[in-house]
Amino acid sequence: MTDKPSPKKIVPEKIVAEKTVPEKSPRYSGLPTFMRTPFRPDCAGLDIAMAGVPYDGGVTNRPGARHGPREIRNQSSMMRSIHHVDRTDPYALARIADIGDVPFSEVYFPDRAMDQITDFYRTIHAAGAIPLTAGGDHSITFPILRAIAAERPVGLVHIDAHTDTWDSFQGSKFNHGAPFRRAVEAGVLDPTRTIQIGIRGAQNWPDGWDYSRDSGMRVVFMEEVEERGVGAIVEEAKRVVGDGPTYLSFDIDSLDPVYAPGTGTPEIGGFSTREALRLLRGLDGLTLIGGDVVEVSPPFDQTGNTALVGATIMYEILCLLAKAVARRG
Ligand code: MN
Ligand code: MN
Repeated sequence: MTDKPSPKKIVPEKIVAEKTVPEKSPRYSGLPTFMRTPFRPDCAGLDIAMAGVPYDGGVTNRPGARHGPREIRNQSSMMRSIHHVDRTDPYALARIADIGDVPFSEVYFPDRAMDQITDFYRTIHAAGAIPLTAGGDHSITFPILRAIAAERPVGLVHIDAHTDTWDSFQGSKFNHGAPFRRAVEAGVLDPTRTIQIGIRGAQNWPDGWDYSRDSGMRVVFMEEVEERGVGAIVEEAKRVVGDGPTYLSFDIDSLDPVYAPGTGTPEIGGFSTREALRLLRGLDGLTLIGGDVVEVSPPFDQTGNTALVGATIMYEILCLLAKAVARRG
């Protein structure tokens, strides 16, 4: 990957000509869209569509992730354009906008809520845009994959304290501990091109861990990260997903609750924000087709820091997606 051309040199002229840019007015002013980008509800002509999914009907314990998109939008006004490590300017590489939230009308019916999420992301997919999502609890990732991976199963880099491959809970198949089991069953996720990183914490049933292992996913428990180091895990992630289409899902509870207390099912012994940044930056070069940051729960986020961390992780993923768009040309 050392001799690839600089991303800026391979950007088609039309993208530069039509690029969307964040507002230049003071960052504390105006309507809070993601990263202060324009609001474009129809997503026509976009390369990357940032969207919110204000839904937490899948939680098994503490609620509140339905408020995640609004608070991440608010905190994302702290984000600036140009990355300090490699000077990536995502807005110079891709046309990016905030397309709003999934419009729910049947939020008390999990199966119908899932269908409404899928319908919304089918529209994004049909417009040729890559989605970058702020959740919502983790149940939202299955209906997203159902929309954008309908043509073929995709690979997955999944950063989380939990494998989210359990089965029904309290009678619902669409709880936030089950999205990746549902995705394998639906044929939209290739378990042999899936890596789950940061897994930890006691469980009442081991069958989620077992399902991941038995279906062929690579499960990296936190102890293995500690033993081998983030760099080795990055290399393994790249090997597992290869160069095929890959989705990136970041559960904020992968971080230690010291850094991200505002979440539904916190687990101590997690990633520091520095380790998470190193992990994400190491994933540059993958063929990413979308990403999300889920499980930010503002009611449990006493200082607002969890939403700031979520917005910053979202910016890091935005840079990865923009570079993937530029390589695609
Ligand atoms: Mn999760
Ligand atoms: Mn989790």
